[in-house]
Amino acid sequence: MTAGRPGETPAPDLVQPVIGYRLWRLGQDDALYSPYVEERWARGVHTATCRAEGAGHDEPAPAHDCSCGLHAWYEPCPTLSWAATRHLVAGAVALWGDIELHPFGMRAERGMVLALALPPWSGTKPRRIAELAAMLDVEAVPARRLEAVALEHGAPIPPGLAPAPRASRAAYAVEQRLADAESAWRPSSLVSRTRSPD
Ligand SMILES: [Zn+2]
Repeated sequence: MTAGRPGETPAPDLVQPVIGYRLWRLGQDDALYSPYVEERWARGVHTATCRAEGAGHDEPAPAHDCSCGLHAWYEPCPTLSWAATRHLVAGAVALWGDIELHPFGMRAERGMVLALALPPWSGTKPRRIAELAAMLDVEAVPARRLEAVALEHGAPIPPGLAPAPRASRAAYAVEQRLADAESAWRPSSLVSRTRSPD
């Protein structure tokens, strides 16, 4: 068990990587970036760094009272939220290390891309996504298969661990959540520690 702060529920140690879902931006250099910051996701393990201005904090990302960490949602992003856009790419990640759980998603210390989702049609963007996936050494799979492929590499956050409400699949909520994810996630009520996938 990981000791929580006073008044918090201690979280169980999870035995395998946590599966999460997120969006990225397809850069002009055909690399993968966080949607709103110049943070490139390369092949292999990605470690969170804090980009908070000013004094920041001594503890490594994700800090409890900050918005840093690798952001991901509990459920796949609705296809409508990214497929028809020019630059948004959806995919699944494995997360481990310290993870802060929020109602709609989580902030993790470490993670890696597991698979990228392909829009349900052919064209330039699916081709670029497939090339990008090959470069990252991950699969590019039809969006409807993303969850099944992701779950071969880890497990979702067990029901009841995240503060209510759990993420909604409603498309209208995605923009809001995306904005929240990159700028102003509130401190969560729960901290969890998970093991590395190797
Ligand atoms: Zn921070």
